[in-house]
Amino acid sequence: MLELENLIGGELRASESKAWLDNVEPATGKPFARIPRSNAADVAAAVAAARSAFPGWSVTPFEQRAECLRKWGALIAQHSEALILAESQDNGKPVSLARAVDIPRAQKNLEFFAGAIEHFASDAHIPAGATHIHYTHRKPIGIVGCISPWNLPLYLFTWKIAPALAAGNCVIAKPSEVTPVTAWMLSKWAEEAGFPPGVFNVLHGLGHEAGQALVEHPEVKAISFTGGTQTGAHIARTTAGMFKKLSLELGGKNPAVIFADCDFEKAVATTIRSSFANQGQICLCSSRILIEDSIYDDFRDALVAKARRIVPGDPADQATKMGALVSAPHRDKVLGFIREAQELGATVLCGGEAALAPNERCETGYFVQPTVLEGLGPKCSINQQEIFGPVITLQRFHSEAEAVELANDSTYGLAATIWTQDAQKAHRVASNIESGIAWINCWLVRDLRTPFGGVKSSGVGREGGFEALRFFTEPQSVCIPTA
Ligand code: NDP
Repeated sequence: MLELENLIGGELRASESKAWLDNVEPATGKPFARIPRSNAADVAAAVAAARSAFPGWSVTPFEQRAECLRKWGALIAQHSEALILAESQDNGKPVSLARAVDIPRAQKNLEFFAGAIEHFASDAHIPAGATHIHYTHRKPIGIVGCISPWNLPLYLFTWKIAPALAAGNCVIAKPSEVTPVTAWMLSKWAEEAGFPPGVFNVLHGLGHEAGQALVEHPEVKAISFTGGTQTGAHIARTTAGMFKKLSLELGGKNPAVIFADCDFEKAVATTIRSSFANQGQICLCSSRILIEDSIYDDFRDALVAKARRIVPGDPADQATKMGALVSAPHRDKVLGFIREAQELGATVLCGGEAALAPNERCETGYFVQPTVLEGLGPKCSINQQEIFGPVITLQRFHSEAEAVELANDSTYGLAATIWTQDAQKAHRVASNIESGIAWINCWLVRDLRTPFGGVKSSGVGREGGFEALRFFTEPQSVCIPTA
């Protein structure tokens, strides 16, 4: 069985607790690795290592920091096949998705922030005839914690650690205990990439143990967290009195707004992808499909026909389009939402059950059919709570105003997709929808320079491009006389 280790001060080692946790393959339900069950003593050791490394790393020229990130990216490329297979095995996602999205994007994240730090600049204010010059000195914060979820494991892990390291911080990262393998693989190549010991540390273990100890540690000055809204609220409460810098990327309940004047075929095909990609386990997935009355029946029928053709398969099979859900508890939670929907009077147009195992190997895996529900009001729990699985609901609207009202009838505000060929309407609707991101006639197209994040219960702060570098630096206003 594979045995993962923490990376602390450049050394790969077990937890001080000497305890281990099983890591289960979602497609089979069987353990294939064990990970250290890290605790507060491991956090203290990682903080000590990061404290020793910070004075050197924070003054390392930015070109050299960028070079480490580029080398690390090259190591991802060199080991990409192993990473693709590991991500699929660990998460249950189709190997084709890990190949097309997760691993190339992880490499891109490292390369992108290597470039970004080379172009990052701060402001100077020099009025005409100035007696004084004011400039902003952006300094690395110190020791920062990066906590990432299980749905896009290496993709979101690198999205946090790359800007943190580029900006000159020392990092203690905690990947989700559910999907730790690719972060561990990356940690093994940190030294080869050129990072001095203690600059980058990884702790594996449970959120409420290792994660909590990291968040509570007084020397960890900033926390960049992606995960569930409840966990985000808990972290905000824990850190409030310590005044830590916080970036919170949280859950979503994203609307797809389908107007009658949309490009019908494209809207159907993309809505299938935006609903069911990664088994619906992407924070940006559409989950509430709002359809204009005049095309409601046709759109529903076309969507359901396509959804019925998606059959969950063995994630290791190259042809599989939908894999397994990440864990047994998560599968049970998703199936519980479907039962609740039926009790509330929903019509199940497709799916609604655990899916049959695709083969003998996967007999005890966590497969759920793509599920389309109809007939639920906007206020019910199924249209309000994040399900984070292959489950969507359909609702009908009669006017642009009603579409916007339905779209905004949520405590979340992460992303929206809008389907219309009327550019002015598209812009109007996008600006009236309360979301951090709006895609018009497309989905999941990302330019890494753009701000990324949510409003309302979907989070606080923005990642992406210079926003992330601003988060991971502390601005100091400096004033100096000209004469
Ligand atoms: P969780 O909130 O359960 O966990 C996220 C991370 O936080 C994990 O590493 C977890 O560790 C850790 N954690 C849990 N409790 C604590 C704690 N008390 N202190 C510190 N760390 C803790 O989320 P999931 O992993 O279940 O991920 C799914 C969620 O992430 C969904 O809500 C989804 O919408 C959201 N998400 C948001 C994105 C965005 O950009 N807005 C992008 C992707 C996902 P462990 O796993 O070991 O418990």
